Amino acid sequence: MTNLIPNKIASKDSIFTAERELHLALLQLSRYHPIAHEWLANLPEWLATIKDKRRYAHAPAYLGAVEKLPDLIGQGAVTSVDFNADAITIHSDLTESQHKQITALLKQLMPWRKGPFQIGSNEHKVFIDTEWHSDWKWQRIAPHISSLEGRRVLDVGGGSGYHGWRMTGAGAKMVVIIDPSCLFYHQFMAIRHFIGGFDDYTTHFIPVGLEALPATTEQHGQLFDTVFCMGVLYHRPSPFEHLQQLKNQLRTGGELVLETLVVEGDKTTVLVPHDRYAKMNNVYFLPSVPALIGWLEKVGFSEVRCVDIDITSIEEQRATEWMTYQSLSDFLDPNDNSKTIEGYPAPKRAVLVATK
Ligand code: SAH
Repeated sequence: MTNLIPNKIASKDSIFTAERELHLALLQLSRYHPIAHEWLANLPEWLATIKDKRRYAHAPAYLGAVEKLPDLIGQGAVTSVDFNADAITIHSDLTESQHKQITALLKQLMPWRKGPFQIGSNEHKVFIDTEWHSDWKWQRIAPHISSLEGRRVLDVGGGSGYHGWRMTGAGAKMVVIIDPSCLFYHQFMAIRHFIGGFDDYTTHFIPVGLEALPATTEQHGQLFDTVFCMGVLYHRPSPFEHLQQLKNQLRTGGELVLETLVVEGDKTTVLVPHDRYAKMNNVYFLPSVPALIGWLEKVGFSEVRCVDIDITSIEEQRATEWMTYQSLSDFLDPNDNSKTIEGYPAPKRAVLVATK
């Protein structure tokens, strides 16, 4: 792909640059995949909506914080970026005052839930210790999926983009993270600000939900070789619709990687929490693994398999300096950690891999 601007430049306009690179990437894609025209047609509205302060009161403050970050890339102060480390690491020698400035600005984007990230690699580095050890989830998933080398990848509900950067590190030729959260968009842009073009601008973030994406048909040519959907399905009131929309973004033969909360049981078992689940008020369907396999088969996936089951520990999800609200230990029954505070089974997560 021809880049119209030299790599590794970024400036105070790093969000503008990222969005321009996204436009260019979709334009390039549209030569062989007509569906990309529909993405392009919607893009201006998607990108304007996420910055609209009538909709997101915090948007101007988030934008202001990102714009004030020091321009390490422009100063040539970033020596390399490690996308394969447990913490996505931007190597640079920071001064003490840069440490203070970056810490103060990034803290304006709290709570930081998905990570970790590290800016700088000397004694003045800034380590964003996020609520979640998202690296542990990646370690559970990575050994079981088809190699991402040269693949075009969609990460649905990608949060701050942590896993998206890991997908780039794993060799994906293009990563599109989608997530409708205004905070996560700006957290991604803050990290992107320090990464500049070190990923050759192959990692993109579009601030929309899955259901907003143009639906594809065979003749339009689906865009993605692998679709990830992690930690989203239980938030969806219509899980079958969601699974169909995931399938719709995949090419035939492509791979779905699905991670979601599950319960013990047989293929007829599904828990629908009456009110809250682990203090979350937007939790709908928690199937057993056999039930979830059945759901995926019902929407037409093949070779459906469960590759990992894990009970979330209070070491993996906890309050930190960068996320000071309540966390998992507050959501569990204080007398019995195998139950949530509401008396449901404690969070257990399964990873399923399936082929379209
Ligand atoms: N995938 C990450 C983050 C999970 S948190 C991980 O596994 O760690 C769930 C995310 O899903 C949130 O960031 C939320 O904004 C996003 N989300 C919720 N509904 C969505 C939808 N309809 N489409 C895409 N993302 C959605």
